[in-house]
This record gives sequence, structure tokens and C-alpha cells, in this order.
Amino acid sequence: MRGPVESVRFPPRPSEGESRAAIVQFCRLLHQKGFLSANDGNVSVRLGGGRILVTPTGVAKAFIAPEDLIVVDEEGRKVAGARSATSELPMHLEVLRRRPDVEAVVHAHPPTSIALSLVRSPRLNDVLPEVILSLGRIEVVPYARPGTEALARSLAGRIERSDALILERHGTIAAGRSVADAYFLTERLEHAAEVLWRAHALGRPLPLPEAEARALLSAHEHPDG
Ligand SMILES: [Zn+2]
Repeated sequence: MRGPVESVRFPPRPSEGESRAAIVQFCRLLHQKGFLSANDGNVSVRLGGGRILVTPTGVAKAFIAPEDLIVVDEEGRKVAGARSATSELPMHLEVLRRRPDVEAVVHAHPPTSIALSLVRSPRLNDVLPEVILSLGRIEVVPYARPGTEALARSLAGRIERSDALILERHGTIAAGRSVADAYFLTERLEHAAEVLWRAHALGRPLPLPEAEARALLSAHEHPDG
């Protein structure tokens, strides 16, 4: 008999095999798009029953295979898999704990988003209407050392407000309804950062009128009016 929580979920959660294939597909895409290098970056997805599928440490995302992935429980204890889970596991667990509405987390090192976090561009949130509509307010999470509990804790209060964050001097983290969804949030964030970078190279990016930026943010926060 199916459990009550799992049976009411809609759309149905992908099978473990489908989730393994999705992680592999989007890890390769993250690498192809230049959103990470070598062993950087990590991806996780809920499997149901309190289990989470996550990328291992020390494996290049360009060559990752479905059998390389690790299953952990909600406390991060390994349930299955030959390797060790990513060193950024605390960050993934923190997001999944704080956002019961999301299924997957993508952490990457997209170069332009990282570069913008170094100069604190003032125009991150008020120049591109489609970015405000899709991502809301883009926040830069103050620096914490990669792989630490401190970095995981630094997401508190922020990941509840925003599906995608820039981590100062480090990368991005995105929480989505699927691996694909979290990947595309990452792609949107990096694309916005690229546009801003080019604008900064050409001159001083002009902001949207303040009232329009506010209206767009309100439309993002209350999509049904
Ligand atoms: Zn990282």
C-alpha cells in the first residue's frame, strides 16, 4: 500500500532511475555551458521516503555516470553508493529542509555571477524586467567558506525568499521543482549576470523606473494578482 504523503503528490515524482538520468544530463550541461569546472558543482534531488540522491565528491561533471550518484537520508547519512557524497551536502540538506516545496537543488560556479559578487553590482535587481519576473530579487549571500556548516546556515532566511541565490566569491545555488527547473534558474541567473557585465563594460547600466521595478517584483511575488 502506498503511503498517504507519497500518494497525493502531483505531478508524480520521477522514479529513481529517471532522477539519476536527469542529474547526469544536467551535470553535463552545466559543464558544457561553462557553469562549473572539473569536479566543481553539485546537484541533489528528492527520491521520496526521506531519501535524497546527490552527486559524489571528486568526480568531473562532464563524465559523471548514473551509478556514481549517492543516496543519503535527510541527516546526510549515506544509504547507498560506492563513493562519498559531495562536500557541499550540508548546503543541499539545508535548502531541502527549508523548502519543502522544492524537489531539486543545483549548485554551480558560473563565472560571471561569481565576478558580479566580487564587485557588488548595484544594478542586479532593477534593469532586466524578465529577470525580476522570473527570479524576483537576486540576493548575494555574504561569504562563508565552501563546504562548511557556516555556508549552509548562511542560506537561512534567504532561500525561503528566493529560488536562486549568488554565493559571494563562490557560485550560485538554485532550488526548483525538478533538476531541470533548478538548472534553468541557474542559467537565467548567469545570463542576467552576463548582460549586466556587458552593460558595465559599455558604460553605466540605466535602471528601470522605480515604480516599474516595484510592479514587476510584486508580479513575481503574487503571480495570480
Ligand atoms: Zn561550490
